[in-house]
Amino acid sequence: MLQTELTYLNSDELQGEAEVLHCRPRGDRFEIVLDRTLFHPKGGGQPADAGCIGAAQVADVLLDGGVVLHVAEHALPEGRVAIRVDAPTRRLHSVLHSAGHLIGHAAQEIGLQALKAQHWPQQCRIVLSVPDSLPLQWQGLLQERVREHLAAGGVRTVSRDAAGARIVSFGALPGYACGGTHVRALSDIADIRITAARLKAREISLSYTACAAA
Ligand SMILES: [Zn+2]
Repeated sequence: MLQTELTYLNSDELQGEAEVLHCRPRGDRFEIVLDRTLFHPKGGGQPADAGCIGAAQVADVLLDGGVVLHVAEHALPEGRVAIRVDAPTRRLHSVLHSAGHLIGHAAQEIGLQALKAQHWPQQCRIVLSVPDSLPLQWQGLLQERVREHLAAGGVRTVSRDAAGARIVSFGALPGYACGGTHVRALSDIADIRITAARLKAREISLSYTACAAA
């Protein structure tokens, strides 16, 4: 069965070449299937990368089974093509996603457990489970821990566990099984700020923002 090689899982390269295997109409657009891709598809709480395949601007990127569908305004012929992922968009997504990891680690350290997360620009949110005894100043504690980890500037490592899952970690922090894109080191993030927290039943919904280091 056809599978797209997910090159972005093992490489931070934003430019390269690939083979156009298929290009089919999709509504009033086209879906392009490549043999390999540098584009992160929408999923796992992270939005799709932007960029170009040849002269075609990529409007969306979806994962369908093991096949990545690049949705574009223009059709492309089969054959070799240059691919380019938009760097500022990738950087923003990687910063927000990595910030989510850090908040998850910090939360765990004060007894909260991350249940789910989304790392969409302007809408970053993490849902945490609430322990029986929630520290009174938990939000301040959490923010402090996040900034401590950030200051340590841990370097990213990507490995595979025994079951083949991709494990992403920063410095000495524990790893997360994750298929997203991340900064190379936490020093690439200037700040992470928890902007709102809503406590409802046994869950906290946390909103946050993060910005890249200059
Ligand atoms: Zn991740």
